[in-house]
Amino acid sequence: MKNEVVKFGKLLYDKDLTSATSGNISVFDGKSVFITATGTALGFLNEDDVVEIDLNGNELENGKKASSEKKMHLAIYKLRPDIKAIIHCHSPFATAFAACRKELSAPIIAENIIYFGKIPVAPYAMPSSQQLVDNTVKEFVDYDTVLMANHGIVSGGSDLTNAFHKIETAETYAKTYVYSKIIGNQALLNEQELSDLANLRKKIHGK
Ligand SMILES: [Zn+2]
Repeated sequence: MKNEVVKFGKLLYDKDLTSATSGNISVFDGKSVFITATGTALGFLNEDDVVEIDLNGNELENGKKASSEKKMHLAIYKLRPDIKAIIHCHSPFATAFAACRKELSAPIIAENIIYFGKIPVAPYAMPSSQQLVDNTVKEFVDYDTVLMANHGIVSGGSDLTNAFHKIETAETYAKTYVYSKIIGNQALLNEQELSDLANLRKKIHGK
C-alpha cells in the first residue's frame, strides 16, 4: 500500500501534474486509509511519509501527521464504497479551469465525453475546512473527478492506477481545450453526436 502511494507520487511529479508540497494521495484497503503526511512533496516521498489512519482520521502509528485534507479523503470513501484510491493535486491546466470556476464540459473530444460526462466545479471554500469537504463530496454523488474552485482537482478510482488515469486524462482534456482555443474555431460536437456519446457512456459506465 505505502509503496504504491510513493510510486504514484513520483509519477504525478514526473508528468508535471504536481509541484513542491501541494496535493495528497491516499489508498483504502477496506480497513485503514494510507495517506500522504502533511507537508510532504509528492515527487519525493518515502514510505515513512505515508501515514496509516482509521476512518475517523486517527493516526494508527507514531510518526508523521496525516495530510490536512484527510477529512475530504475520508468523506469520499464513506460516500462511495466503489472508490479505493484518491488523488488530489493542483495540475496546472485543470487547475486553470478551477481558477476560472469553469467546468470541463466543452464538447470537443469524443473520448472525454464518454469518460467523464463532464468535470464539475465544487464551490470555493478554505483549504482543509469542513466547508471544502462538504462542497467537494457533494459532487462525488455523480462524478469521480471534480474541480475545486480556485484550488485544484480531485479524482477517486477503484485503485491508484485508475485514479491516476482520471487525473492524467482530465489534465489532457484541459490542455487540449486551451490549445484548440489558440488554434481557433473549435468544432463542437453537435446534439446528435453528443446524444450518441451519452448512450455509449451509459453502456460503459452505467451513468
Ligand atoms: Zn490542494
